[in-house]
Amino acid sequence: MQAFEALESNVRSYSRSFPAIFSRALGSTMSTEAGRTVIDFLSGAGTLNYGHNNRDIKAAITEYLASDALVHGLDMATPAKLEFMETFNSVILRERDLQYRFQFTGPTGANAIEAALKLSRKITGRQNIISFTRGYHGMSLGAIAATGNRFYRKASGNTLSGATFMPYDGYLGPAVDTADYLRSVLMDESSGVDSPAAILVETVQGEGGINVASKEWLQSIAATAKSVGALFIVDDIQMGCGRTGEFFSFEFATLSPDIVVLSKSLSGYGLPLSMLLIKEGVDAWLPGEHTGTFRGNNLALVSATAAINLYWRSRTFSQSVQRLGELMRRRLETIASRHGTSFSVRGRGMALGFDCRLAEIAEATTRKAFEKGLILERCGPVDQVIKFLPALTIDRETLNQGLEIFDESLVETLSRRGCDGLVTC
Ligand SMILES: *Cc1c(COP(=O)(O)O)cnc(C)c1O
Repeated sequence: MQAFEALESNVRSYSRSFPAIFSRALGSTMSTEAGRTVIDFLSGAGTLNYGHNNRDIKAAITEYLASDALVHGLDMATPAKLEFMETFNSVILRERDLQYRFQFTGPTGANAIEAALKLSRKITGRQNIISFTRGYHGMSLGAIAATGNRFYRKASGNTLSGATFMPYDGYLGPAVDTADYLRSVLMDESSGVDSPAAILVETVQGEGGINVASKEWLQSIAATAKSVGALFIVDDIQMGCGRTGEFFSFEFATLSPDIVVLSKSLSGYGLPLSMLLIKEGVDAWLPGEHTGTFRGNNLALVSATAAINLYWRSRTFSQSVQRLGELMRRRLETIASRHGTSFSVRGRGMALGFDCRLAEIAEATTRKAFEKGLILERCGPVDQVIKFLPALTIDRETLNQGLEIFDESLVETLSRRGCDGLVTC
């Protein structure tokens, strides 16, 4: 690791939490150069929903590479792109009664967010974006402006404008309906909040601490967007592509957002691919108004098509994600309940958070878990929530093994502190 310290910028982060050199990965495990195997419950922050080096997806891209078909073609028309759009359209959209056009953006999620915000502003002629406390949308200036985290905002070194933060579902406790508050503020000509171009939301906040919005809350803010003439944008970058048990994280609330932002697990293989789904009526772009060198990379489109064909042609996969998610939730709740009321478990599908309340407990537990062979990330305002994002394709044995390591790591952390996890200790 010393060579990395000398050569790589101080900005590196995951390599500090997981100090090892990773040389191989398959499914839900990663191996280090030193020969250690660890279970991966981070999955590239939700990028590897179908596991590392998924064999069947790999077969599709190796065949494509061997055929000398176009890999890079800017945004030119290719058979790979057409096949992706037609497959996505019939298997994902039509099955769900959704109609969208595809906009391929630059390869990062942040670039897709920028495109969504630009398009909303262009269409409405308004500047303000409503985003939510603890929301996370990426590292470019427009996306950071809509991101809650002060650490990232400060690092931007710039005046961040154009977004107004509203309380997310549950932010003010169970007694306050923050969707009602949002509606009142936006309907009031004297609230001091400018009419928004868009309301931008995650249905489950990934980086913000696995905060879950209810169906009613989401439906209410979608209706508010409509009544005030704002676009309704769902950032499904981390929670989409099956993470919550259905392809889109908003299906349970039967929403049809004006714009859906997808990235992370879209390519199904960890290849960079981002896109917007936009309602035909809001596709107000002039040709070339939002461009980029790496839009819709063909290799990533081939793996994305393979992933859809493999996992989304029947309900089986979705049902399995829901079952595994329940299994995880029960186990985590059992672990939490053993320690009184100090800890809580939140999430949907296979996106679960274990709130330790104290950042030190979360930190020590994830560090210990890594020593024992499990990769777990932390999230939330002070990194006090342990985040569980195993591959959706994980087998039960590996899943249970990982949960067992977490359980042991928490117990050891608490006993070292000489307490049972009470917040006062
Ligand atoms: C990761 C993420 C982004 C940013 O994507 P990048 O590819 O890192 O730019 C935006 N929104 C959400 C919800 C994310 O999880």
